[in-house]
Amino acid sequence: MYASRMSSLPPYLFARIDEMKGEQQRKGVDIIDLGVGDPDLPTPQHIVTSLCEAARNPENHHYPSYSGMPAYRSAAADWYKNRFNVPLDPGKEVLALMGSKDGIAHIAEAFVNPGDYVLAPSPGYPVYRTGTLFAEGIVHEMPLTQENNFVPVLDDIPKKVVKAAKLMFINYPNNPTAAVAPDGFYSEIVDFAKKHHIVVVSDNAYSEISYDGYQAPSFLETDGAMEIGIEMHSLSKTYNMTGWRIGMAVGNADILAGLARVKTNVDSGVFNAVQQAAVTALRGSQDCVKEACSVYQERRNVLISGLRDLGFDVPSPKATFYVWLPVQDCMAFSARLLNEAGIVATPGIGFGSNGEGYVRFALTRPVERIREALERMRRLDL
Ligand SMILES: *Cc1c(COP(=O)(O)O)cnc(C)c1O
Repeated sequence: MYASRMSSLPPYLFARIDEMKGEQQRKGVDIIDLGVGDPDLPTPQHIVTSLCEAARNPENHHYPSYSGMPAYRSAAADWYKNRFNVPLDPGKEVLALMGSKDGIAHIAEAFVNPGDYVLAPSPGYPVYRTGTLFAEGIVHEMPLTQENNFVPVLDDIPKKVVKAAKLMFINYPNNPTAAVAPDGFYSEIVDFAKKHHIVVVSDNAYSEISYDGYQAPSFLETDGAMEIGIEMHSLSKTYNMTGWRIGMAVGNADILAGLARVKTNVDSGVFNAVQQAAVTALRGSQDCVKEACSVYQERRNVLISGLRDLGFDVPSPKATFYVWLPVQDCMAFSARLLNEAGIVATPGIGFGSNGEGYVRFALTRPVERIREALERMRRLDL
């Protein structure tokens, strides 16, 4: 009944974990879910109020414009200018997205012919792969390993793959490894992409979630980046707005025009009231972001020191709300955590073959729950 491409879609490991979690819950186990990358903190009140007001205005009840409201696109451009000192023309260099997943899932349709290669990090956000599969492209996994600081080694990509590559995804601060982009890395990417005519898509969903004074850059700050690339950004993680579905693609106007043309044919834009609330988020006080980061930072400190007390050698992340823990066998480890301690952690293999040997914990539960999880792990004698 199903099309053959359906069999190449990810084997839904995440659905399997949900099933296992359901089994435990039915047994009455009090589950501590550190699996999901979805903030537990609420959307800040001033943003919610702004949505309520905008929702009452009948002018907002019509089809939105495809590319986004001018007010939203200029708020996004001003935010990029203030935050990264990257100037953007809101008319041509900013496109509204229904969350960055929307842009990531559709970009390959605009640039990839059947048989072309797409370079994607492994482990990585699963949508880089699915978007490529829908366009009938071939994914070349760039391994992110501890030895190379979780950054792809461009010289390791086979020549024939480089030649046939159309698109490259990069993602720093990184999900799931929590790595940040080392100095000089983005310039290396720009040189490589220019030389081989590859479109670069930087996924910067976690730029605002950082600790200890670290500030993540935008790929577009790099000389030459605007000539070959775009960046996907999102309000989801920054303002606890995962359910609202709003983000933006910014950067090279021609690349964005390709994505916009695909999207014009598959969706009809983001609800105007959501865009107005997003303007409030981007233009308003950013104290709420600082507060969220200090909450995650405390949780990170508790989890990292607890894991180290248990004998794990785990680095303390500078950004994202994830902890990437090296373990022997990721499926066995996460199954044991769930079945013997009621703790959900995501096996690394769910993010690609190079995720084996790790599990990912999300810092999206209150600090008392993280302490409780550590106590249960201590009793497990891992
Ligand atoms: C959460 C996430 C996204 C997408 O989030 P949206 O809600 O669709 O904006 C994109 N990339 C990575 C790496 C993520 O973790």
